[in-house]
Amino acid sequence: MGGFMAKVKAPARRSMVRAEVARTARTGESFVTLTLAGPGLADFEAQGFDQCCRLFFRREGQSELAMPTASHNGWLAQYLLMRPSVRPWVRNYTVRAFRPEALELDIEFALHGDAGPASAFAARARPGEPVGLFDEGIGYLPAPDARSQFLVADESAVPAVLAVLESAPEDLVARVLLEVPHPGDIRDITAPPGVEVRWLHRDGRGGVPGRLALHTAMSTPLPEGPFYTWVAGESGLATGLRRYLVKEREVPKSHVSFLGYWKHGRGGVG
Ligand SMILES: Cc1cc2nc3c(=O)[nH]c(=O)nc-3n(C[C@H](O)[C@H](O)[C@H](O)COP(=O)(O)OP(=O)(O)OC[C@H]3O[C@@H](n4cnc5c(N)ncnc54)[C@H](O)[C@@H]3O)c2cc1C
Repeated sequence: MGGFMAKVKAPARRSMVRAEVARTARTGESFVTLTLAGPGLADFEAQGFDQCCRLFFRREGQSELAMPTASHNGWLAQYLLMRPSVRPWVRNYTVRAFRPEALELDIEFALHGDAGPASAFAARARPGEPVGLFDEGIGYLPAPDARSQFLVADESAVPAVLAVLESAPEDLVARVLLEVPHPGDIRDITAPPGVEVRWLHRDGRGGVPGRLALHTAMSTPLPEGPFYTWVAGESGLATGLRRYLVKEREVPKSHVSFLGYWKHGRGGVG
C-alpha cells in the first residue's frame, strides 16, 4: 500500500484506535502537524523511533469515519470489502510524537498539493475531524555492532528522522542528510551532540524528491567503521542508496534499512 518496508519489527499488540484532530500547526513551509487526541489513544502503545501507523480519514462527502475492526492483518481484507461509499482513505504516517499524559499524538505531513488525498486532508483538517490509527511497527533497527549511523531522508521521512533523533540515546554518533523542498522548511532540531545534521533544499524548484539526497549521500564521505544506514523516502532514494552502499561500498546488507515510503507518479491504494 503505497510504500515498501525492507524489514519491520511488528508491534506485539495493537488495536484500531479512534481519535480526533485537536489542533493543527504549520511546522515549515511544506509541513503541517496535526495533533490528535482522545481517550482511544490510551490503547496506543507508543514505541518512539520511526514507529509508523496506518492513518484512516474520511473521503469528501462522508459524514462518518467507518473503520475496519480487526486487530491483525485481516484489517486489509475488511477494508477492501467495505462499500466504496463508506470506505475511508488510508495512508502510512509516522508517529512524530506521543504524549501519554495528555493522550496526544502528533503526525507531521509533508504537503505535496491536492493530488494526494492525505496531503489535501492535512492541509484542510480542522479540530474535531475524526481519524483512525493502526500501529505498523518500527523499521529503524540498528545493527548491534554499528559504531555510528547514517540517516538519509526526503521530506516524507524528515518526521521519522526527527522522531528517531528524539528517541535516541545521548551517545548516538550519526551523520544525517535531510532533503526538503524549500529553505523555509529548515529548522532547529533536538539531537544528541554527536549528531551532525546537514539540510539540503530544492529551493522550491520542484524535481523528484530524494534525488538530491541520493546524489549527496553518494558523494560525501561515509562514516568510519561498521555503521548502520537508515534511508527512507521516495523509493528511488531508498533503493538507489542501498544499491550503492551494498554494491559499490561493500556495506553488508544487514547494516542497511531501506524504506520506500512512496513512489513518484504512483498514488496509494484505497
Ligand atoms: C512507513 C511510512 C511512514 C511514513 N511517514 C510519513 C510521514 O510521517 N509524513 C509524510 O509526509 N509522509 C510519510 N510517509 C509517506 C506517505 O505515506 C506518502 O507520501 C503517501 O503516498 C501520501 O499520500 P497522499 O494521499 O498524499 O498521496 P498519494 O495518493 O499516495 O499520491 C498522489 C501522488 O502524489 C505523489 N506523492 C506521494 N507522496 C508524495 C510526497 N511526499 N511528495 C511528493 N509527491 C508525493 C505520488 O507519487 C502520486 O503521484 C510514510 C510512508 C511510509 C511507508
